[in-house]
Amino acid sequence: MQLLPAGLPSPAAGGFTTRTGGVSTAPYLSLNLGLHVADDPDRVQTNRERAASAVGLPVEALVFAAQVHGPAVAVVEAAASGMAMSGVDGLVTTTPGLCLVVLAADCLPVLLADPAAGVVAAAHAGRAGLAAGVLQETVAAMVRLGATAAGTTAVLGPAACGRCYELPTSLADQVGMAVPGSRSTTRQGTAGVDLAQGAAGLLAAAGVARIRAVGGCTIEQPETFFSYRRDGITGRHGALVQLS
Ligand SMILES: [Zn+2]
Repeated sequence: MQLLPAGLPSPAAGGFTTRTGGVSTAPYLSLNLGLHVADDPDRVQTNRERAASAVGLPVEALVFAAQVHGPAVAVVEAAASGMAMSGVDGLVTTTPGLCLVVLAADCLPVLLADPAAGVVAAAHAGRAGLAAGVLQETVAAMVRLGATAAGTTAVLGPAACGRCYELPTSLADQVGMAVPGSRSTTRQGTAGVDLAQGAAGLLAAAGVARIRAVGGCTIEQPETFFSYRRDGITGRHGALVQLS
């Protein structure tokens, strides 16, 4: 399987899965990590084992967020097999050997690390979560655990790009007000949102010193990425981060 490396500073490590290298069949072909999309749970479990092994961990070390497109963040201290923290879109830990995972298919996954403080985080930032402040809340949760924004590196994963992500004009304007720089125009000339641009702006405003993006548009690259907006019923990629 393919893991796009996040390039986080050691001892933080992690990356972003693509749709390749798993065992699920269409429309979840093939590395679907989402249990909530009506895929065969045994296949999802095998896919999760492969993703865990790509970061050098057993599947029991993975901790998922049962995401709700909101701003809530959970501090994770221990992992249990298949554990999902309910009602949150951000996960933060200081515990080595467990792996935080957020899932997405068009929404923007963000991995964060302050290696000197020994704090890592993963956040799921779609249109709603971004506007609700999930990234600022994630940085704040890291700071409460001893991180500093200036010491933090953020890596933005693959997502629907601003030329593809179309929204009704009023909604795009609303998101643009809440998230400066996120309002875009699609290649059809209609109103849109640029999640990565918006996220980078919010993180910079929060004082995060280093922000980079792995790139990739989920809608434009059907061989590589799942896209909810393109396909409807589909799988989910994972963004994984750990302290090794
Ligand atoms: Zn695109």
